[in-house]
Amino acid sequence: MDAMDRDPSATPRALATEAVHAGREDLATLGLHAPPLDLSTTYPSYDARAEAARIDEFATTGARLDGPPVYARLDNPTVARFEEALARLEGAEAAVAFASGMAAFTAVLLARASQGLRHVVAVRPLYGCSDHLLEAGLLGTEVTWTDPAGIADAIRPDTGLVMVESPANPTLAEADIRALAHSCGSVPLLVDNTFATPVLQRPVEQGARIVLHSATKYLGGHGDVMGGVVACDEEFARTLRQVRFATGGVLHPLAGYLLLRGLSTLPVRVRAASSSAAELVRRLATDPRIARVHYPRIGGAMIAFEVYGDPHDVIAGVRLITPAVSLGSVDTLIQHPASISHRIVAEGDRRSAGVSDRLLRLSVGLEDVEDLWRDLTQALSAPPAGPPLEAGTAARTAGSAATPWPVAR
Ligand SMILES: *Cc1c(COP(=O)(O)O)cnc(C)c1O
Repeated sequence: MDAMDRDPSATPRALATEAVHAGREDLATLGLHAPPLDLSTTYPSYDARAEAARIDEFATTGARLDGPPVYARLDNPTVARFEEALARLEGAEAAVAFASGMAAFTAVLLARASQGLRHVVAVRPLYGCSDHLLEAGLLGTEVTWTDPAGIADAIRPDTGLVMVESPANPTLAEADIRALAHSCGSVPLLVDNTFATPVLQRPVEQGARIVLHSATKYLGGHGDVMGGVVACDEEFARTLRQVRFATGGVLHPLAGYLLLRGLSTLPVRVRAASSSAAELVRRLATDPRIARVHYPRIGGAMIAFEVYGDPHDVIAGVRLITPAVSLGSVDTLIQHPASISHRIVAEGDRRSAGVSDRLLRLSVGLEDVEDLWRDLTQALSAPPAGPPLEAGTAARTAGSAATPWPVAR
């Protein structure tokens, strides 16, 4: 096989193939099957003059170093494999990985602010902590909240970014990315693609310039690795690498290894969980205990629904489903956004963004759909609970159901 045959740009490959092979093309020539995990923090070199030249090169361009890294905060070969694979799956020129989704978003904001563009236009709802980071102005940025129709009017000369999540966390509201990108003009549109993953949606193809992921969710996929990644053009990636080097929010190489492994099963996991989610949506939609079901047109494994009863009773009532924040794991997770994922957003802002107090968010995993339905339906019928009982406790504490939830049929 000559180099041409291995050139990834030579023949376009299907997503499922890229998921398994991208970032790993050199392994067979290295005589390896699994990717190597490089945990080095530093890299020996007897030629300090050459190192000086490489450091100068990085400081001026932000391009990835040729040859071994100098220091782990600058670059890591295992993480680079994950970045290469994710860029390929998103159809982007490059990707830059970070310690978490929030570290990735922080780097984007700092990169734009360093270019004098401190203003952000954003559409609610966003993930609670993204909303908080913008609203609190912790990084010296300023935000204008708008709906998609108001974007063009909200843009100012110092606007560095327009941000949207689609489907959004937690309401699963969808944006027309192509139309939004058009309204942005020359300002880059950032799409948080955590919920859809590149399996269901590739925002770059629709005009988004920056794609953000909490890799902690579907990309990792097993609830055991935290990371974030930005897919973008090489020019912006260079600035992001310089910001990462200077601020230190690097992805740990073991996390990079696990994320690369997670990508290989991403299409299979997302499709399987999405088909269970679609079935649960069909059943919830006709269930008299459910006031409203939110499910995006593009599908996916996330469901949001509003209950007539007390959402806290549903959380307390699940037995198979895991009552926990986060999403995208192999097991099904349920949480109450107003109490947890979006607690940090002011109540009024939360409500006006459609995050009602009766809303529950379900991240459908890979269990058998009948087992999931059995658990969900019994939890929906659960009597008012209060705090979960400890094993061996015979009776529920009197008064724990003191706040009856008003029924709004
Ligand atoms: C979880 C999440 C984030 C933040 O990612 P972390 O990895 O937890 O820092 C950002 N956006 C969305 C949509 C998320 O769900």
